[in-house]
Amino acid sequence: MTTALAMISGGLDSSLAAKLIKDQGIKVIGICFKSYFFGPRHALMMAKQIDIPLVVVDFSKEHLEMVKKPKHGYGKNMNPCIDCHAMMMNYSGKLLQEYDADFIITGEVLNQRPMSQNKSSLDVVIRESGYSDKILRPLCALNLRATKMELEGLVDRSKLMGISGRSRRIQMELAEKWGIADYPSPAGGCKLTDPNFSKRLCDLFKHEEILSEERINLLSFGRHIRVSTNAKIISTRTAEEMNEIKNYVSESDLVFLAKDYKGSMIIITGNPGPEEIKFAARLAGRYSKGKDQEEVSVIYGYYGHPLNMIISVVPVKDDEIKLHLI
Ligand code: SF4
Repeated sequence: MTTALAMISGGLDSSLAAKLIKDQGIKVIGICFKSYFFGPRHALMMAKQIDIPLVVVDFSKEHLEMVKKPKHGYGKNMNPCIDCHAMMMNYSGKLLQEYDADFIITGEVLNQRPMSQNKSSLDVVIRESGYSDKILRPLCALNLRATKMELEGLVDRSKLMGISGRSRRIQMELAEKWGIADYPSPAGGCKLTDPNFSKRLCDLFKHEEILSEERINLLSFGRHIRVSTNAKIISTRTAEEMNEIKNYVSESDLVFLAKDYKGSMIIITGNPGPEEIKFAARLAGRYSKGKDQEEVSVIYGYYGHPLNMIISVVPVKDDEIKLHLI
């Protein structure tokens, strides 16, 4: 039986592409990817709706190395979509044999994204993937040269589509026709397309050589304040954030709390010196109910240990914080 591996991103297009091929009587197995910047949550939801099995591939470490230095650069933010797609295709290609599959399908649509899905980018992705004769793009196939799979009769080209451009009308009509009601917005699940996350990631790449999953996860929470090349401060904004952040803080991080007032938890990461420690304490004063006091007592210590150090500080003024905010 002809079998295809469908790269399921979790968005609508890749699921429609998989369904289009499945409806030709071809066996379709979904493949989705897990990295430090996106996960399988949406893909699992979409695979269920089109009733295909889904294999989750964790390529976090290799993907992170690529994000640091993408051969084809970044999109609008820190999203290296061309390299990312090519890497996913390459991984899928390596799985063809394991799943006894004949080819790979993706949900790409010609000219849907100006930088990563124009004709030349689609060509680059396919070339870089190392599996150029195994990739089929069912949603825009009629705008492209017929593939080996179509020429050899594995796939019926007349049942493929010729969608191009940024309008989502045809995709939404197909979704309605096929009863796919629940789908996220395009690229909604990838943190690398988020401008704020991207700024923080860029800062992290600049200042930390060894990156852990926890350090990357921390980027999604709190205010981030770069005080020096050696130290970064994170301030929680809500009680929920404080609980979440605790999952990613390490025992080498210092934690600060205003002693006599309710307020944010302040964390300093890196190798802070006395000045940076004092600034973190002043932030604990600023982000507490004692912010208008002349001086605030702040307790601090290493995370997971008693906060047994104390310092009296003047709360930081907002103008000063703005200078360091990432
Ligand atoms: S949006 Fe994110 S997941 Fe999608 S190709 Fe670009 S970098 Fe990769």
